[in-house]
Amino acid sequence: MPRILITGCEQEISTFNPVACHYDFFNILRGDELVELNRGRNSTVGGAVKHFEQAGVEIVPTWHAQGDAAGPLDHADFLRMATELLDALKPHAGKIDGAYFSLHGSMGTTAELDPEGYLLQEARKILGEEVPIVISLDLHGVLTARMMQHADAVVSYHTYPHVDFANTGERAAKLLLRIVNDGIKPVGVRVRVPALVRGNELITETGLFGAQIRYAQELQQDSEVLSAGFLICNPFTDVPELCSQGFVYTNGNVQKATDGAVKMTTDFWPNRAKMQGQLIPLVDAVKKAAAMKGPIAFTDAADATSSGASGNSNAIVAEMLRQNYPHTVLAPIADPTLAAQAHEAGVGARIRGKVGGSLDPRYTPLDMELEVISLSDAPFDLETWVFTQVPGKSAVLHSGNITFVVTTEPVMHVDRALFLVNGQNPKDFHSTVVKSPHCEPQFFNDWVEANLNVDAPGATSANLKSLGHTICARPMYPLDDNVEFTPKPEVFSRSTRN
Ligand SMILES: [Zn+2]
Repeated sequence: MPRILITGCEQEISTFNPVACHYDFFNILRGDELVELNRGRNSTVGGAVKHFEQAGVEIVPTWHAQGDAAGPLDHADFLRMATELLDALKPHAGKIDGAYFSLHGSMGTTAELDPEGYLLQEARKILGEEVPIVISLDLHGVLTARMMQHADAVVSYHTYPHVDFANTGERAAKLLLRIVNDGIKPVGVRVRVPALVRGNELITETGLFGAQIRYAQELQQDSEVLSAGFLICNPFTDVPELCSQGFVYTNGNVQKATDGAVKMTTDFWPNRAKMQGQLIPLVDAVKKAAAMKGPIAFTDAADATSSGASGNSNAIVAEMLRQNYPHTVLAPIADPTLAAQAHEAGVGARIRGKVGGSLDPRYTPLDMELEVISLSDAPFDLETWVFTQVPGKSAVLHSGNITFVVTTEPVMHVDRALFLVNGQNPKDFHSTVVKSPHCEPQFFNDWVEANLNVDAPGATSANLKSLGHTICARPMYPLDDNVEFTPKPEVFSRSTRN
């Protein structure tokens, strides 16, 4: 009976969020709880566990960390996590037949620009060169040469919005067992495309990008093809190998892997301009909404906490104040200083506070007279799915026609949960600021007059040129003009090297 080790570390970051995140930000599972808490779940580890158990494999669960999107991980905290992950592998060295790593691919620390590559490189030193390792990545992951050198094969999500977590884990598990049991020799080819993309055309079911995924799935029908995928990366993770890329693993057939990766990427390249966010200038959006009956949603994807922004933006409200916006507005903001001030003052108090800009200096704090309407600090679940958010000290603050829901910690705005648990229903306001690139239609789109996708400043702006990338390879579309693409297949194989 083969013995298969499971481990992993998953997070994506925005380099442009100035607030570093820490060890405590992660949910860490150790030993058996990694299997128990994932069994039956739509998670990569859950899918892998299902397949391994069906195949009668002895699972060796070790250590796995999962963090929500955030700013870069503090490097000392990353090293602490890396040490825990690697120490958990040590007792099993020489005693396992394979290892599955569940990764995201878009991690970044304040000092390490390829954390996943580092983890795989160090894991190899412990587990040895002969043990097959298969990794899974998010479709927004940044696959690096170092990751491909140390992993035998890679699988990735085939859906955006992501729904195939378990399926991806299952594919990884199947592939790993084929290497272990059948002695197949994976060879991987990737082709990097100098393009960063964003927007609705990336929705795999309805958008142009779906064609790349369907082609990857078609390739996988060939028994010689072990895995195929296309990674659009997280454009906010500014690291050296940031790019879009297609990859194919075959059983030793370099030409077939090359042909697949080249076709996938050359088909993608002509659509790059259509795969960009469609944004309305902030000044125009506020002006337009002022003349509308409402209700209006202002989508502020530039400060999307679920994509790694701070949640500290006051940009839309600032422009509304500048234009004397005539309607009622509901706006969320992560601002620990303001939340603490409100808790100190108490319900009913009137305070003079600074709104926004305390975490992220790209925003100028708004000096405002505010009334403390209510206070809270309890965790809550999202409307979308049972996923607990921990806002810390929170407050509803009122100033003229503006109502803020202020939190200490960034929470996700993929639905209305934060508003509702604080007694504020977006349907009671003319305008609501929504800090998420996409929400399911029932939360806003089904009942608003318009959802204005605003070009506001922020760490996760779809206006990619506004972010100020300094590390990724250049030229890069759309950051630079006249970018050209010639496919350069890169071949990786552990079996030929060993
Ligand atoms: Zn993703």
